Amino acid sequence: MLYLKAEKLDAFLARAAETRKLYVPVDSEPGRSSYREWTPGTAVSRGLHTTRSAKDFFFPQTENLAGFRVEDKKIRVIDPRAETEDFAVFGVRACDARSFGILDKVFLADPVDTYYENRRRHGLILSMSCRRPAETCFCKNFGIDAAEPEGDVRFTDDGDGWYLEALTEAGKAFLDPLADLCEDRDPAGAEAAKEKTREIVDRLPLNDLPVGKFGGGKTKELFDRPEWAELSEACIGCGTCTFVCPTCQCYDIRDFDTGREIRRFRCWDSCMYSDFTKMAGGNPRLTQKERFRQRFMHKLVYFPENNGGEFGCVGCGRCLASCPIHMHIVKVMKRLGEDENEQ
Ligand code: SF4
Ligand code: SF4
Repeated sequence: MLYLKAEKLDAFLARAAETRKLYVPVDSEPGRSSYREWTPGTAVSRGLHTTRSAKDFFFPQTENLAGFRVEDKKIRVIDPRAETEDFAVFGVRACDARSFGILDKVFLADPVDTYYENRRRHGLILSMSCRRPAETCFCKNFGIDAAEPEGDVRFTDDGDGWYLEALTEAGKAFLDPLADLCEDRDPAGAEAAKEKTREIVDRLPLNDLPVGKFGGGKTKELFDRPEWAELSEACIGCGTCTFVCPTCQCYDIRDFDTGREIRRFRCWDSCMYSDFTKMAGGNPRLTQKERFRQRFMHKLVYFPENNGGEFGCVGCGRCLASCPIHMHIVKVMKRLGEDENEQ
């Protein structure tokens, strides 16, 4: 099995960056990291995961979808898309790697979002096992194995380097020309590293969330629970939880008049915002309680109901670390997971 020693990482990334743009996690300030394009000398973060997820590569926070210009009394539609270049994202953890499958169910369903599809086709996922999962991680509840992330090439971290496995044809085509930078090692070493990860994950404090109390078909039981009022009481509707979330996929589209043409932009939106569902005829969600309930019902009930039981959360823990009022999906699951007569 291929093994890349830590001291060979720079040479590996340099060679990889010759064939495509390569993005790596970089420490931006203490305790925070973000993806940057790799250039010689870039120090790759050894932190757990980036503050914002890797979904930006496929579903960017803002994008120009189209333009419209009047020419000779006719409206010309301008497609601003350039040919998407091949790129690779390094260091994607198991939770984020799973999130792409969730986003695919939304954006690749009929009618296909061709902007997203184009980036998915050109983007290679170099995933990374977790050696030090955090106490805020709870991916195991959703059947995700932090030791065996999905992706095109899996890096299994043993502390001194990485065992490499190509998981797709695209991953194999990427890895084969880099094999000379690696050495051959017994796969038993990779299995031992994976077991260490699983042992740590098994000791994490949030492994036993009441997942079975949620899922498709639970709308009637959960929608009118009185606890929503108390859970949402302090929510300030800032939307931070949705912006850091790898699976949130709501957006808004608006046209702007530049004076010369109309430009159509798409940008992330949040179901936590008061004007999210505002329409000409009014707003069906008038209170923060209704908006808050929508976010969690979508992830825990509506999404699995429409997607073969798959939850709309991957347990990355980002919302636990970022909500200014310390409210998040774990507290919601614990509170609503209690039977009403247990309270
Ligand atoms: S739950 Fe927290 S992060 Fe999300 S909108 Fe409310 S206050 Fe903001
Ligand atoms: S809801 Fe929170 S824990 Fe779940 S995927 Fe989104 S940010 Fe991560």
